[in-house]
Amino acid sequence: LTIHDVVVVGAGTGGISTAASLLARRPGLDIVVVDPRDKHYYQPGWTLVGGGVFERAMTERPMASVIPKGVRWLHAAVAAFEPQRNEVVLEDGERLRYRTLVVAPGLELNWDGVEGLRESLGRNGVTSNYLFDMAPYTWQLTQSLRGGTALFTQPPMPIKCAGAPQKAMYLSCDHWRRTGRLKDIDVAFHNAGGVLLGVADYVPALMEYVKLYGIDLRFNSRLVAVDGDKQIARFANSGPDGTSETIERPFDMLHVCPPQRAPGFVRSSPLANEAGWVEVSPETLQHVRFGNIFSLGDAMSAPNAKTAAAIRKQAPTVAVNLLAVLDGEAPRAVYDGYGSCPLTVERGKIVLAEFGYGGKLLPTFPTWLIEGRKPTRLAWLLKEKALPAIYWELLLKGREWLAGPTLLPHRPQAQQSPEALSEKG
Ligand code: FAD
Repeated sequence: LTIHDVVVVGAGTGGISTAASLLARRPGLDIVVVDPRDKHYYQPGWTLVGGGVFERAMTERPMASVIPKGVRWLHAAVAAFEPQRNEVVLEDGERLRYRTLVVAPGLELNWDGVEGLRESLGRNGVTSNYLFDMAPYTWQLTQSLRGGTALFTQPPMPIKCAGAPQKAMYLSCDHWRRTGRLKDIDVAFHNAGGVLLGVADYVPALMEYVKLYGIDLRFNSRLVAVDGDKQIARFANSGPDGTSETIERPFDMLHVCPPQRAPGFVRSSPLANEAGWVEVSPETLQHVRFGNIFSLGDAMSAPNAKTAAAIRKQAPTVAVNLLAVLDGEAPRAVYDGYGSCPLTVERGKIVLAEFGYGGKLLPTFPTWLIEGRKPTRLAWLLKEKALPAIYWELLLKGREWLAGPTLLPHRPQAQQSPEALSEKG
């Protein structure tokens, strides 16, 4: 077996930006990226597809076009990890051996976690911005609904882009308000969690819009079943005293954010923590048991907001630390938990949430330019006009935009081969 310097599992946001960042730092590195898909998606664009602002074609590119020059793309799926042998096993039984490994397969949308949901999608008013194919249907439904009930749901955390379920709702409400139909539409937000957003600083601005649109907020209310033909959704509601009851609600439109979890081959692997995520140090993103393995993006265990914005800071952190390990040194780049969620509260305005571990606010821009806790036009322009280009041209190409990693002082370590680090596992 050839031994590659770096094997990267997944060519999504995390995998591509890390491969590019590694090559920018060390041209000529032998990197293999493994991903079975033909297409790469700019998922943050799907909210704007569902809101009628973007065409979905803007969010999709051929995979081959985003693979950095000099990186080998293996068009295959990984089935298992064998960290003690420094190998991954592909679905066809082939193996790849590595000196260091980057795990970035994203997360799994668990459509079967809600009874009847998979069969209902795309018909009878049931939609989700979480799918490339389905986001245009959200906009179609929004445009055609003239009255009745529109339900928006949010599953238990963690999910990718925790604000996305309510972003879809605000953009639909804004359209109904502008077209004079909102008074004839009952809108409710069924949230399995107990708060509108995990970081309290942004809640007041969001509550202004909840009031403006007349949204009925239902907390601790989890979607458990959908009957598409009858257009009925079933929710499990839990009370503060531990009681729970099931209710049924008819709908004309239902926007679902599905329950989410780590991919099956990660959950069942020696890399997973109890909850199934790749278990890394939240600071260095190095695996806690296998020192030559790093993970970033939606698949890993750190308690940051699972967003592409987070990867902007995670990729350089992983690149610096992985190269250190290849050189027999200790990791010294530190990730602060940065993540961001541009909340599209109306067409033309965004509440730009940016925060790190512990809910610490980490604004990129000075507050005189963009005050993240207020809805601003500039944040909308950033999302609509600038972020897609930043994604394709800077993030995926390893050109680090305001995101140089924080470095600790150099910490020499007894010379150790990366392979030897996996044996502590
Ligand atoms: P992904 O980009 O999902 O890539 C995972 C890759 O791994 C895929 O290409 C997949 O094919 C591959 N893979 C899976 N299984 C295997 C396997 N067995 N073997 C090999 N490869 C495999 N983020 C923001 O920053 N701002 C936003 O406004 C925002 N809005 C969003 C709105 C929606 C509707 C959605 C769905 C997401 C949004 N996000 C947003 C989140 C963002 O898109 C993700 O956090 C980010 O793409 C995660 O990157 P990743 O590399 O971990 O996973």
